Amino acid sequence: MGPPGPDGRFGSFGGRYVPESLVPACEELAAAFEAAWSDAGFHEELDTILRVYGGRPTPVTPCRRLSEQLGVRLLLKREDLAHTGSHKLNNVVGQALLARRMGKRRLVAETGAGQHGVATATAAALFGMDCTVYMGEVDVERQALNVFRMQLLGAEVRTVSSGSRTLKDAVNEAMRDWVATVGHSHYCLGSVMGPHPYPWMVRELQRVVGEEARAQCRELLDGADPDWVVACVGGGSNAAGTFAGFVDTEAYLVGVEAAGGAAMGAGGVPGVLHGMASRLLQDEQGQILEAKSISAGLDYPGIGPEHAHLAELGRARYEQAHDAEVLAAFELLARTEGIIAAFEPAHALAWVVREAGRTVPLGSTVLVTLSGRGDKDVAQARELLG
Ligand SMILES: *Cc1c(COP(=O)(O)O)cnc(C)c1O
Repeated sequence: MGPPGPDGRFGSFGGRYVPESLVPACEELAAAFEAAWSDAGFHEELDTILRVYGGRPTPVTPCRRLSEQLGVRLLLKREDLAHTGSHKLNNVVGQALLARRMGKRRLVAETGAGQHGVATATAAALFGMDCTVYMGEVDVERQALNVFRMQLLGAEVRTVSSGSRTLKDAVNEAMRDWVATVGHSHYCLGSVMGPHPYPWMVRELQRVVGEEARAQCRELLDGADPDWVVACVGGGSNAAGTFAGFVDTEAYLVGVEAAGGAAMGAGGVPGVLHGMASRLLQDEQGQILEAKSISAGLDYPGIGPEHAHLAELGRARYEQAHDAEVLAAFELLARTEGIIAAFEPAHALAWVVREAGRTVPLGSTVLVTLSGRGDKDVAQARELLG
């Protein structure tokens, strides 16, 4: 997975659909990222922080008992063991360093379930920056603990009461803030979406997940690559980072969306939202539909443009998991391996559990990116499993 084409295009997707006032900011960011990404000093600083602060490299764990049960050799890339409990820190530390290089002293972010907001507030605390996080009113109520975490870390949480009062509206407000404060603020976007350069930049910042995993798999598999590489997809950043490590191998790449929010499913159509052309959940009038699933982290009504392109090329396939099978996979992993996963990666696992011996031949080696830990979902799981 290389850089996008002119204007940030991935095939017919991507691009930069922003108000005139944001074009210079996007151009400044693209130039700053390009310069930083080819600067050994930037990589050294980023890698050091991710190692001594973030807990990288995260291990790849072979799952002995669950593999026996499924009839496939299951390996987990353990992003749940990274600081703040998911892959999100990889992206925000990179963007915070970049913001500092650009002379910006304030981070603006959107958040849905709160995980990206917490990660951004963490990076802001680490670098001594101001931080404002936009969060829909509905999510503020559902995720009271994460709101408190962000405040504890010194961030200001602004409640968004417009539209559906969820993630989609929080992105709009964060972009509005950025337009007004672009002289001293950086918009720290949380996934491989939005206008160019974000989809490309965030994928590059998450590439570490796939590159580590590839080397770790080769060590475990006597130099071989896994047959299947599977990751969950909200906006698609953990999947994009994972796929980047394996796109030039023979491995089948599978992204798993929530059935209630599947932009790659039958309900998804090409359209423009949040500065990008991609596949979106839209009705016939072009109104964006609400994504609905057990997992707030997958409730984004679109998908990153590069995923839409990988699907178009046939290099990756996108599947769905339903809430009931996700909950069953969540419980299964806890019982067989002693790992409580977040609901998001439980989607990826649920697809493997369903398809082992069907789409995925018995005896295959399957790498699943466990994008985060389940602490945030335990109370909901308790209610659902009752
Ligand atoms: C935010 C989040 C996701 C969804 O975001 P992507 O950009 O699709 O990776 C998945 N898993 C966890 C644990 C998350 O926190």
